[in-house]
Parts: sequence; structure tokens; C-alpha cells
Amino acid sequence: MPGSRCPPRPGRGSAAGRCAVLPYCRGWRVGDQAFGDQSGRPRPHRHHRLHTHSVACRRGTVARYASPVPERITMGGGGALVVPDEPLIPYIRGDGIGVDIWPATQAVLDAAAARHGKRIAWTEVLAGQKAYDETGEWLPEATVTAFREHLVGIKGPLTTPVGGGIRSLNVALRQILDLYVCLRPVRWFTGVPSPVRHPEKLDVVIFRENTEDIYAGLEVEQGTPEAARLIELLHDAFGWVIRPDSGIGVKPVSVTASKRLVRAALAYAVAHGRRSVTLVHKGNIQKYTEGAFRNWGYEVARDEFADVAVGWDDCGGQPGDRVLVKEAIADICLQQVLTRPEDFDVIATTNLNGDYLSDALAAQVGGIGIAPGANINYVTGHGVFEATHGTAPKYAGQDKVNPGSLLLSGVLMLEHLGWTAAAADIVAALEATIADRIVTYDFARLTEGAIEVRCSEFADAVIERLGPGVAGA
Ligand code: NAP
Repeated sequence: MPGSRCPPRPGRGSAAGRCAVLPYCRGWRVGDQAFGDQSGRPRPHRHHRLHTHSVACRRGTVARYASPVPERITMGGGGALVVPDEPLIPYIRGDGIGVDIWPATQAVLDAAAARHGKRIAWTEVLAGQKAYDETGEWLPEATVTAFREHLVGIKGPLTTPVGGGIRSLNVALRQILDLYVCLRPVRWFTGVPSPVRHPEKLDVVIFRENTEDIYAGLEVEQGTPEAARLIELLHDAFGWVIRPDSGIGVKPVSVTASKRLVRAALAYAVAHGRRSVTLVHKGNIQKYTEGAFRNWGYEVARDEFADVAVGWDDCGGQPGDRVLVKEAIADICLQQVLTRPEDFDVIATTNLNGDYLSDALAAQVGGIGIAPGANINYVTGHGVFEATHGTAPKYAGQDKVNPGSLLLSGVLMLEHLGWTAAAADIVAALEATIADRIVTYDFARLTEGAIEVRCSEFADAVIERLGPGVAGA
């Protein structure tokens, strides 16, 4: 630890969270570790670190520490995140089982980060039922601001208000922050009960377009004046004949959204040494939306990735060491992911196809309790990482459910931060835990000889199996 001595440790009797060193310090927390490590060397107090930048120490020494202080993640000029060693990260605990799976997840993320000399400064923000109860709003502006300003955040499941309020909090966050990729990696972990014979053959990363398609919410209800007006307009302008008792939805698919989605999928495939990107579409029927998505996907490969990726038709299916860009029609794709899962690697697809595919594939490798998700804008760096299941209210507060989905979403978050070694440690530890048949109720009921544990005990077992780590990795 370079620099001069630290001022003496604050008195142990100081009020929790209050600085005991300087009288004018208000609100800088002492931090939750003991002040001073086992070697007797002083540890940095956030306040002291701040001190080095501003005023001389009242005790005559100016402490300089290599250790971090909480800072915001920012976007660097080169389009990569700049992540401090102690980033401030907002989290939404989540409703229902959020009270169980969030603490379990946080404990594992913290333990893995610490093994690599990192620390996350968590900041709770509100959304969902908890926000409504405390503020009267389902998604307070302060929460959106926190996610916008801190770039990266994580959330548990949220109650969707019935009969009013916001349509879906998850959709709202995605739209407000323009999180255009829904990222769903789907792979099997040894020992996880599966309905298929060879779940180990599936290792797919789905890039689902997240902002348009029929999810744009452009719908009119059957029987309303709006529906009647739209039906008339479509008849007059295009000669389209639509039954008068129809509801109508609009499916926009743009060049902008399609290309940036495929671009992200290709960049991921190249960066992660993946073999192929499959464009999944329904272009044989929906030519100008789904079919166009496919065409624009190939264009991105040809125009922007020619040195590292190649379309099937441009190489006869022989890409050499480049990433192969191919396609599959959505309906047959849903068969082939079951019958020939090894043919799929990275998938890039439109919103609705991606929704179906994500759940169908997750079912093959253990289902909802362990499927992670992320919503990312790779241009701005914004990312919201989330459990893919709901609030399962009947289990709330019982310390019973599987924290795997939120935990693996946290792993995606660490990867997004570039903390890949800590992320890999968690995956290995999770795998070792399940291989030891230590599982929560959902897997226990399908696993012979399982040791059924509580949600928090599962997290403890994962932490026990984390490797020693390497500081700074
Ligand atoms: P759900 O909460 O996902 O629960 C359905 C079932 O899935 C549970 O009864 C349980 O099955 C299983 N399950 C869910 N999470 C699990 C976990 N962590 N570990 C093990 N099993 C798990 O779906 P829902 O009951 O339809 O929805 C409840 C609320 O959640 C609704 O308000 C809905 O709007 C909301 N929701 C939120 C999100 C989100 O925030 N991303 C997503 C979906 C739904 P068993 O009973 O068979 O064990």
C-alpha cells in the first residue's frame, strides 16, 4: 500500500455508517469491513481516499491508497465500458421471491468479486410492488435515472400490476433505455435434470431483438372506433380487406433495429470464438418484415464482418476459420433445436421468435429456475440483467426457490463489466454444487439422491466452491 500512514482507525463505538475521523464528514460510510486488516495495516476509509484528492489531513498525514472507492461505470471513447475496481451498481431486489434470490445472488457475486480484488458498491433502487407501496409509483423516475446514469444494473422479478399502472415494468425499462438486445445464453450444467437425452449438446446464445416487432404495442382492440377507422383506412389506401370484427396489431421491423441486433450477435460470436450465427426468421410468409430481417442480417455480415464472418451462400457452407452466417425458418428451427441442437451456436432473431425460442431452449436444460437474461445496448453500454422467471408469490420469503436464474444473470453482468475471471469462477462453482447434487426443491424433485437445500444454503454451497481467485484478474 503506497503512500504515507493512514490516520488512526476510528473508534469502534462510532455510529454505524458515520465517519468517526472528521467532524464535518456527513454520510461517508465506514464500510462494512473492519477498519484494519489482519496484518494490522490500515485499510482505506472511503473518506480518507476522498481526502487525498481534496484537503490535507487534519492529523498531518495524507493517506494515499491503491484501494478503490466507489465510482460510476462510464463509457469509454473506444466504445468499451470503463469499469472502476469498485463500481456503483443499482439493483432492484424484486417482488415476491426477490427477497430470497437477491440476497443469495448478491452474496455469491460479492464473494467472487472479492477473490479478484474487486468490490461492488450496491445501491438499492425501487420498482414494482415495493416501489408502489413506498412511493405510490410502480417505476419511480429515480430508478430510471439510476439505471441511465450508472449504465449497468441488475433486477429481480417484478409484479406486473393488474388492471392499470404500467403495462410491463420490464418492457418499460427496455424501451426507456433502448436496450435493443435481449441476450439469453442457454447451456446445460452437469447434473441439472432435463427432459431430453442429451442436454449437453445444447450450448446456444440467443440474441433477440428487443424493441420492435409485435412487441411495439401498436394494437387496436376489436370493436373500437380506432379499429373501425384503421380497417377503413387500410381498405381505402391499400385495398386490404379485413374482417370488421378484427383486432389489429402492427409489426414494425426496421433496418436500424435488425442490423444493430445482428451486428451485436456477430461481434459476440467473433469475440467468443463461436462457429456460427443463425438468422432465425419467418420470411417465407412475412417477406417484408421477417424476410427483410434475414436479408439485412446477411448484409451486415458482408458489409461489416467480411474478414471474420461469411454467409452460407458466399462460401457454400465452408467458412474456413470465419464465423458461418446461416439461416433457419422459425418453425423448423423449433424442431431442429431439439433434434440437432449441436447445429446451433449463436442465434439472431426477431422479437417474437426469440421469445418462443428462449423458453423452448431453456426447457431443454433445466427450465425457468436457472435461465439467465440480459437486456443490453452495446452502443451506450447500458445493461439491465434480470431473472427470467416471475415473482412466484406462493414461495415468497420461504428461502426455498432456486436463485440460479438471477445468479447467472449476475454472471452475465460480470462478463459485461469485463470481470470474466470472477464470472467463470461462479459458473464453475455452480456446476460443482449441482454436480454434488446440492440443489433447491425444483431440481431436487427431479434428481435422484439429491440433497435439497434452501435458497441461501445453495448460495453458501456455491461460495464454498469458489476458487481462491487472483487479485486483479
Ligand atoms: P412465475 O413467477 O415465474 O412462477 C411460475 C412457476 O415457476 C412457480 O410456481 C415455480 O413452479 C416456477 N418458478 C419460478 N421461479 C422459480 C425459481 N426461482 N425457482 C424454482 N422455481 C421457480 O410466473 P407467474 O406465477 O406466472 O407470475 C407471477 C408474477 O410474476 C406475475 O405478477 C407476473 O406478471 C410476474 N412476472 C414477472 C417477470 C419478470 O419480472 N421478469 C416475468 C414473468 C412473470 P412450481 O410451483 O412448479 O415449483
